[in-house]
Amino acid sequence: MNIHEYQAKQLLAKHGVAVPAGEPCRTVDEARTAAEKLFAAGHTLAVIKSQIHAGGRGKGTFKHGFVGGVKLAHSVEETVHFADNMLGKVLVTKQTGPEGRLVQTILVAAAETIKKEFYLAVLLDRAVSRPLIMASTEGGVEIEEVAARTPGKIVREHVDPAVGLMPYQARKIASALGLKGDLFNQACKLITGVYKTWWESDASLVEINPLCIVAGPGGKEALVAVDAKVALDDNALFRHADILAMRDLAEESPLEVEASKFALNYIKLEGNIACLVNGAGLAMSTMDIIQHFGGDPANFLDVGGGASKEQVAAAFKIILSDPGVKAILVNIFGGIMDCNVIATGIVEAVRETGLKLPLVVRLEGNNVAAGKKTLAESGLTIIGGDSMSDAAQKVVKALKAA
Ligand code: GDP
Ligand code: MG
Repeated sequence: MNIHEYQAKQLLAKHGVAVPAGEPCRTVDEARTAAEKLFAAGHTLAVIKSQIHAGGRGKGTFKHGFVGGVKLAHSVEETVHFADNMLGKVLVTKQTGPEGRLVQTILVAAAETIKKEFYLAVLLDRAVSRPLIMASTEGGVEIEEVAARTPGKIVREHVDPAVGLMPYQARKIASALGLKGDLFNQACKLITGVYKTWWESDASLVEINPLCIVAGPGGKEALVAVDAKVALDDNALFRHADILAMRDLAEESPLEVEASKFALNYIKLEGNIACLVNGAGLAMSTMDIIQHFGGDPANFLDVGGGASKEQVAAAFKIILSDPGVKAILVNIFGGIMDCNVIATGIVEAVRETGLKLPLVVRLEGNNVAAGKKTLAESGLTIIGGDSMSDAAQKVVKALKAA
């Protein structure tokens, strides 16, 4: 699960990371009030930031022509003008794809003068099964770009998860960033806080880009997280009710949201042959075999080891709401699952949805004979598959014929 920048900053602040003062706003009036507060508190510059689950906002363009998803405002009136051009508008960035994302929230925050931009992130290095801290003096640009152009400018520090981040490691990173004096001390505290945010939230990624040296009103320099991205491990969300409450369904694919209501693992793909399978491994091999025989899977869909009739029905409806789907392959191995339950679910779903697309069903395992009988006696046009390869070939053929 991903969360918005303003939510990521709330998590970071909770763990002692310095972030600029700011407020999320959902209306132009809220933005006006937030800006009035900031300017009244003595700030001379505000930053207005579109909140979407995608990066590259600064260089993005709105569909109505307004340029920039991140803007600096010198007054309340300017803030209102930007808010008006962002809220309810669609922002297109390098990461959103051409369809863009609807901006429903903006962050109105204090903007100080940026003296220097750095990059800092914590992620999991799967190759060595350890948390990895990455930092660079090249901030504000994508880290992939830095890695390609100047790989020597990225410092990497692995953390022993049993021991946690040691103070010397934070000092090593701060020193590699060339920080001195008070900024060095601030960096040690900030790096520790960022690591703690990653660890305590069960995050898969915490990325601060840019991390900035800013000059405050009195000219005093400070280190603050100007942008923040946090991605969380879905499997650990059950123990973070506060973070789960940050979920923004508007940012997720509607079909995937619907699937998650029925505990279905669904991921939409670009092809035209929908798959309905039990078990992630079988789902992956089904996608492979479809491709092997020249087809193109429209989705990954795992109904789980013990799917119910209702789940099968929901799965069919989700598959059929994808206009790209032109044929369906059901591939079920009944281990725990009773093939007849699946067969009954399929028959009901086909009747209910008035399915017109070619449907190939391959059933194997527990109570398969009863399952095949249910399909045969249904009177529906269902193509039976005898093995995985037979079923895959039949669905590709049926698609071409249709
Ligand atoms: P992104 O484009 O989605 O990564 O959004 P960022 O939050 O990183 O903003 C893009 C750029 O806008 C940053 O790299 C900064 O250069 C600039 N920016 C963002 N916040 C501030 C701020 O508070 N003050 C100033 N001066 N510039 C900012
Ligand atoms: Mg950024």
